[in-house]
Amino acid sequence: MARGSNPRGGTTLSRRRGLVRELILAVVADNEARAPFLETWGLSLYLETPEWRAYWDADTSPKVLKHNARLLGVTLKVDYLIFSHRHWDHTGGAKAVRAKRRVAPSDPRFPLPAERVAGPARLAEGLYLTKTLRGEVPERALVVEVDGYGGVMLVGCSHPGVEELYKSALELGLRPRAVIGGFHLTGAPKELVERTLAGLYELGAEEVHPIHCSGHYAKALAKSNAMTGTVLSFGKA
Ligand SMILES: [Zn+2]
Ligand SMILES: [Zn+2]
Repeated sequence: MARGSNPRGGTTLSRRRGLVRELILAVVADNEARAPFLETWGLSLYLETPEWRAYWDADTSPKVLKHNARLLGVTLKVDYLIFSHRHWDHTGGAKAVRAKRRVAPSDPRFPLPAERVAGPARLAEGLYLTKTLRGEVPERALVVEVDGYGGVMLVGCSHPGVEELYKSALELGLRPRAVIGGFHLTGAPKELVERTLAGLYELGAEEVHPIHCSGHYAKALAKSNAMTGTVLSFGKA
């Protein structure tokens, strides 16, 4: 891990910050899907760069992952399978993914064999894990730094709060422009959804895709239609 000291206190990874040349992000599994994609309550995002390939979380079902990956034309053989947190809707489909490295948070209740990385850590060129936020469910975020775009932050369920996860990226000297994943806001009061999104924009986010456990109101506010089958690209067009 590249870690330098920050004169204002704290640490930063910025001295040896690497970038990926381009990022293609595909939503392989989400609670919302239109046929012929299959739908389950879960989350799995596929990341492809010229430097490496990875999955962020592994949904609920290996069957859904295989089916949707085939439809999207994305591989299930990757360099990294990285988990946000231990819950079944992020780990249940793991056996469908063949990864050279499986990276889990340092959580004694994590259900699968995997390398435990508490974070913060730089896993590969332009690929950063934030520190694990402690609480009832230890969880962290992933940030991909893309040349010509900036940071793309991925979250799982955001049990510690998506703004707290964003702040953990700021602590590394990263200020993600895009945020995608579950915001833990299904059924939340409207004011809380509004406050959370406003907080994210204030911290530095510009493009927000609330999926999985974010609820429809968050999606509408963020003007995002992301769901299973959505492919986003960042960097080189
Ligand atoms: Zn969860
Ligand atoms: Zn979840």
